[in-house]
Amino acid sequence: MTPFAHRHLLGIADLSANEIVQILDLSDTFLEISERAIKKVPTLRGKTVINLFLEASTRTRTSFEIAAKRLSADAVNISGSTSSTTKGETLLDTARNLQAMRPDVIVLRHTASGAPHFIAAHVDAAVINAGDGTHEHPTQALLDCATIRKHKGRVDGLTIAICGDIAHSRVARSDVLALGKLGAKVRLAAPRTMLPIGIETLGAEVYDRMEPAIEGADVVMMLRIQKERLDGAGLFPNTREYSRYFGLGLRMATHLKPDAILMHPGPINRGIELDPALADGTRSVILDQVTHGVGVRMALLYLLAGGSAEN
Ligand code: ASP
Repeated sequence: MTPFAHRHLLGIADLSANEIVQILDLSDTFLEISERAIKKVPTLRGKTVINLFLEASTRTRTSFEIAAKRLSADAVNISGSTSSTTKGETLLDTARNLQAMRPDVIVLRHTASGAPHFIAAHVDAAVINAGDGTHEHPTQALLDCATIRKHKGRVDGLTIAICGDIAHSRVARSDVLALGKLGAKVRLAAPRTMLPIGIETLGAEVYDRMEPAIEGADVVMMLRIQKERLDGAGLFPNTREYSRYFGLGLRMATHLKPDAILMHPGPINRGIELDPALADGTRSVILDQVTHGVGVRMALLYLLAGGSAEN
């Protein structure tokens, strides 16, 4: 296998298309382990993974922990409310203290954009960005690519609409980069107030209405309004109006291509950006995204912690 040329995974921006494909292929291989009766291989035996989650998470934190355990690494979890950051410790001090315990990988989620880059410069461990502020969420984009590839057989040449709070979404940013590198055409749809200035420079087509963005799209990805990042800014008149014009309700869904699949990174605000019947319906691949999250994170831990090939 081609050696992985990176010490850390800080963003999709750093990866080439070939490296993304390498991760997706490896993820498919590792996913098979999740289907076995005994879901564990010795690949990362003796390695230590610290999951430092200083912002809320259900899927990402759990799936990093499961990924580490399925590869036999020792996984330690630290969350915001139980860490000494609540006592005023700086991120740098926290990182240095964790490094002193000689972990192989530190997985960091943080409210500040750039936090993983900052600690990567101060620790010997490999650092994986598990979501930094509004910047990037690279493992989400990789699992999205893996899910699309599974359901559509390819990513190249597909039209993919990402709709909702683009301005505050690290998922959208990472997805635009990853999908673009794999040759997809990406459309972004949001109220003008939720479209960051200069977003077109990332190579996506930008729409301020949902209908033309989802018409003809092979994949429609809905995003949650990032309430925790709005700082009280009134970016839309009210939730009902937002939901009517930028949510995927049953009426809006009549614009979908017959074989379009629906995605959402979670957590879903049911009835706001996505109708519950669609979230649970036949087009939805949302839970499959979660399944692929384990495979992609196993692949990354393997590549960055230097596992042995025996499994
Ligand atoms: N779980 C994703 C994230 O951490 C999406 C979201 O929270 O809306 O960015």
